[in-house]
Amino acid sequence: MKDSNCIFCKIANGEIPANALYEDEDFKIILDRGPATKGHALLLPKEHYANLYEIEDETAAKVLPLAKKMAAKMTKAFGCDGFNLVQNNGECAGQTVFHFHLHMIPRYAEEKERIVCWTPGEITEEEIDVLAEKVKHCTLITS
Ligand code: 5GP
Ligand code: ZN
Repeated sequence: MKDSNCIFCKIANGEIPANALYEDEDFKIILDRGPATKGHALLLPKEHYANLYEIEDETAAKVLPLAKKMAAKMTKAFGCDGFNLVQNNGECAGQTVFHFHLHMIPRYAEEKERIVCWTPGEITEEEIDVLAEKVKHCTLITS
């Protein structure tokens, strides 16, 4: 399904032209218009899924193999030294475009600024146990 109000549906399906780095029947990979680093790209499924909660397993299963292949290609093409893969889900997590996308962010050894970062917090063994038990005992109803 496509969403006629979704900018990434329009880009992924060619309604809005984009200079794609890659395209197949399921995905398009484009350069981000507000890049974190040189070559920052977005991997977009052509079908509309708002986020990780909604993406179909069959499509999700293709995302990481494609990211792996493209990371190798982009590393050779751009001469980067590493990669961050980032995927935001929900406004509170920083998602601003509500069509599933994987950020592919090339990293360069000479660039010292932190791009994907957090300040490590603290947690006790008891708190870890409680959180792990919560998830282990949580059941989902799936169709
Ligand atoms: P999010 O914050 O949802 O994880 O990431 C959205 C990303 O999409 C941002 O990095 C933003 O720069 C990028 N973006 C938003 N609109 C456009 C657009 O029209 N074209 C392209 N190429 N990137 C976009
Ligand atoms: Zn969409």
